[in-house]
Amino acid sequence: MTSPKEDRGAVSERDGVDVLGEIADQVRGCPKCELCRTRTNAVPGEGNPRARVMLIGEGPGFYEDREGRPFVGNSGKFLNALLAKAGLAREDVFITNVVKCRPPGNRDPLPDEIAACAPYLEGQIAAIDPDVIVTLGRFSMARWFAGERISKIHGQAKRDGRRVIVPMYHPAAALHQSSLRGAIEEDFERLPKILAEMERSRESEAARDAPKEAQSKLF
Ligand code: SF4
Repeated sequence: MTSPKEDRGAVSERDGVDVLGEIADQVRGCPKCELCRTRTNAVPGEGNPRARVMLIGEGPGFYEDREGRPFVGNSGKFLNALLAKAGLAREDVFITNVVKCRPPGNRDPLPDEIAACAPYLEGQIAAIDPDVIVTLGRFSMARWFAGERISKIHGQAKRDGRRVIVPMYHPAAALHQSSLRGAIEEDFERLPKILAEMERSRESEAARDAPKEAQSKLF
C-alpha cells in the first residue's frame, strides 16, 4: 500500500539516485555558510530515492553530526515508531533536514543558513518527486506555511501542485512534551489515508491525460 512509487515518468530511479548522490557529495564538502566550520559531519539525508513520502526536519543534532545520518538517537527511534504507525519503514521514505550541518549547541538555524542550504533541499525534492512531504517542526513548515502556527495547522494536508504537504510537530519536541505526543501519533496515523487519496488522484489524472496522449500520437 505504501510501497515506493513504481513509474510516474518524472525521473528514472537511476537519475534520481545519481542526482541525490551528487547532492550528498556537494553537501559533504559545502562551505556555503558558517555551519561548515563547526560540523563534524554534514548530514545530507538518506532513504529511498523513489519514496512516496519525504520527511523534512530542522537540522542535525549531536548524534546526527557524529554519525552523518539524519534522525538517529532518541528522536530517531521515536520517528521509526511513528513511521510504523503509518505502516512505513525508514527504507520506504526519504529523510532530510532544512539545514544539513548541525547548528552549534542545537540552536535554531539562522535565516541566512536556511537560505544558503535551500538549493540542496530543492534539488532533493525535485529528484525524489514525493507524493507527500511531511514537515517536522516549524522551520521546514515555514517553507510552505509562512506565518502559520504549528499548534493550529499540524496534521492538515495542503495541496502544492502534484503533491501534498503535511505539517507535523518535530519528534524531539513531542518526546519532551507529553501533551504533543498524542498529537504527532494521530497525525502519523492519518498518513495512509492521505497516501491513498493521493494515489486515487494520480490515477484519475493519468486516466484523464491518456486520451490526450493517444490523440497527440495521431498527428
Ligand atoms: S548547512 Fe547547508 S549551506 Fe551551510 S555549510 Fe552545511 S550544507 Fe552548506
